[in-house]
Amino acid sequence: MEKILNYIDGKLLEPTTGKYLDNINPAIGEVYSNIPDSSAADVELAVKAAEKAKAEWGKMPIEDRSEMLLKIANLIDAHLEALAKAESIDNGKPISLARTVDIPRASANFRFYAKAIINQSTKAHITADKGINYTVREPLGIAGCISPWNLPLYLFTWKIAPALASGNCVVAKPSEVTPMTAYLLSKICIEAGLPAGVLNIVHGLGQQVGEAIVAHPNIPAISFTGGTATGKKIATIAAPMFKKLSLELGGKNPNIIFDDCDFEEALATTLRSSFANQGQICLCGSRIYVQRGTYDKFLTAFVEKVKVMQVGDPLEEETKAGAVVSEQHQEKILHYISLARLEGGKVVAGGNAYNPKGRCKNGYFVQPTVITGLDESCRTNQEEIFGPVVTVQPFDTEEEAIGLANSTKYGLSATVWTQNLKRAHKVGAALKAGIVWVNCWLVRDLRTPFGGVKQSGVGREGGDEALNFFTEEKNICIKHC
Ligand code: NAD
Repeated sequence: MEKILNYIDGKLLEPTTGKYLDNINPAIGEVYSNIPDSSAADVELAVKAAEKAKAEWGKMPIEDRSEMLLKIANLIDAHLEALAKAESIDNGKPISLARTVDIPRASANFRFYAKAIINQSTKAHITADKGINYTVREPLGIAGCISPWNLPLYLFTWKIAPALASGNCVVAKPSEVTPMTAYLLSKICIEAGLPAGVLNIVHGLGQQVGEAIVAHPNIPAISFTGGTATGKKIATIAAPMFKKLSLELGGKNPNIIFDDCDFEEALATTLRSSFANQGQICLCGSRIYVQRGTYDKFLTAFVEKVKVMQVGDPLEEETKAGAVVSEQHQEKILHYISLARLEGGKVVAGGNAYNPKGRCKNGYFVQPTVITGLDESCRTNQEEIFGPVVTVQPFDTEEEAIGLANSTKYGLSATVWTQNLKRAHKVGAALKAGIVWVNCWLVRDLRTPFGGVKQSGVGREGGDEALNFFTEEKNICIKHC
């Protein structure tokens, strides 16, 4: 059985504890590799390695740093098929999704920041005849990056790439639920010749490894993506230490469909935005609001398509929905479907666990599920389920749709379907969300600041925002001669 190893000081190392956790393939329900069950001692080794490496990496000419990141991007592309397969096995997602979205976006992260750092500029202000104020940016030294299981390599590299590009060394922790692509990334870094200690990847549990990273006095910045409850815990440790903190947290995203939408496009994209990666993308829309004139037509067509969605073996090319990430997560999703029934919801598609025939018969699958008849105040519509479960509810007016959409504690993303430009602007502006997609979903421009509002997060990633996050800014004022 393959043993995943930590990547510390340029080497692949066993955890100091000598202990390992099981890594389960959720599509077949079996252990297929072991993960280091690391401790604070491993984090300490990683920090020591980063401390040794940080002066040289931080002072390296930007062109050389950029070249190194481009090398990593190219190697991710070269290993695309192996990475896509590893991600599909680790996570349960269809291999076609990993191949076309997750892995290409991971190499795009490295490529984007390799180029962005070359083009970054700082400001200068001329203060009449008195002096010049100019801004310098310095790397922070060591950055802590902690990521979740749903988009394992894509979100891991989304943090690591800007941190490295701006001259920091990194101590990173992938999710213990999906560690394989991070392990493959450490091999890619070795192949690329990344200097020892620049990137360190410590595997293990959140409460041991994650908390040790967050609490370490020599790591001044934490970039975290995960659940809101974990984010809160991290903030309580990091805030009294005055660390820089970026928190990308949970969501309960609304998808508003107006009568004047392009119906076929709204239908096809809503299918994707509801069930891509089994609904386990933080940006999936889980509350669908449809204007009354289109409600019946939409619901009938949507349910028809959901019922024939190809759920099954993630490694088969035609599979549209794979396994959910773990048995525990399957139980959580099924619990919410039972709750929805108790709350008076009507399950109009799916609603049960699913056991495909053959190789995946013991895997953790949930049928894509559509629920109607619930109002916005119930728990099903307020709490993040993070699975293939959506509710559909009618509305009459723009104001009502905005009220429904804004009715949760979350504010990550929202989608609006209308062909009326005025309405698109008005509703887009009124929605409390970090990003609003109009007539599209999951369109990504790496220059755009990204992040949630309300309890979906604090801080912004993407573009210059990420480069700025991982640096400290200083103004120097020089008197005119
Ligand atoms: P999680 O919060 O359980 O875990 C995320 C990471 O934090 C993991 O690596 C975990 O080991 C680590 N961790 C857990 N406890 C910790 C602690 N006390 N200290 C430090 N680290 C700790 O989240 P998850 O279940 O892996 O991911 C699903 C969640 O992530 C969902 O809520 C989803 O909405 C959210 N998410 C948000 C975004 C976004 O961009 N806002 C993107 C993807 C996922």
